[in-house]
Amino acid sequence: MQLAAPLQNLAAAGVDPKNIDVVLLSHLHPDHTNGIRNADGSMAFPNAEIMVPSVDWAFWTSEENTSKAQSNGMMKTYFANVKKTFAGIESKVTKYEWGKEVAPGITSISTPGHTPGHTSFAVASGNAKILIQSDVTNIPELFLRNPDWHAAFDVDGDLAQQTRHKFYDMAAAEKMTVVGFHFTFPSIGHVEKDGTKYRLIPSAWNPTI
Ligand SMILES: [Zn+2]
Repeated sequence: MQLAAPLQNLAAAGVDPKNIDVVLLSHLHPDHTNGIRNADGSMAFPNAEIMVPSVDWAFWTSEENTSKAQSNGMMKTYFANVKKTFAGIESKVTKYEWGKEVAPGITSISTPGHTPGHTSFAVASGNAKILIQSDVTNIPELFLRNPDWHAAFDVDGDLAQQTRHKFYDMAAAEKMTVVGFHFTFPSIGHVEKDGTKYRLIPSAWNPTI
């Protein structure tokens, strides 16, 4: 079976998927959840607890929200995807809250708007700390330069806009290293303020470390 790219990367790093004990999901969009299963539907990390933000879980598993979304093609697909992806594995799913250490060294940060329960993470080890922004912005060249633009994927565009400013004001003030799921290579950098806008300064890639 051809392994999905993240599993190929894990294999290259010498990590057996069976040894993964926690999978921490930031929100329940398909591109952030579907990797918990292999192409044949089996679990990609068979021994892992799947952790989901409780607010997103409540939103995407609500029958009322699902029926309201039937007239919106994109949202309809997203609700159906949650149902399919998590079918039969509810016992492996645990829900987490914001502002908590959800796994050793990893703290959940409330960044709603992109989805109602959208979450970012601060990951700390010793003195080092990074922010995993998840989808606070997807394409920094567009949405850090124009933080008040709204992406069609955001469930609540106004709230996503407020969150973007709050999160990036903090990241810039604290000179934090930020990791972005959709950022172009190397997907990690620092953010500077530029008036009311922001810019990403990508980290230099050093192939020797
Ligand atoms: Zn998303």
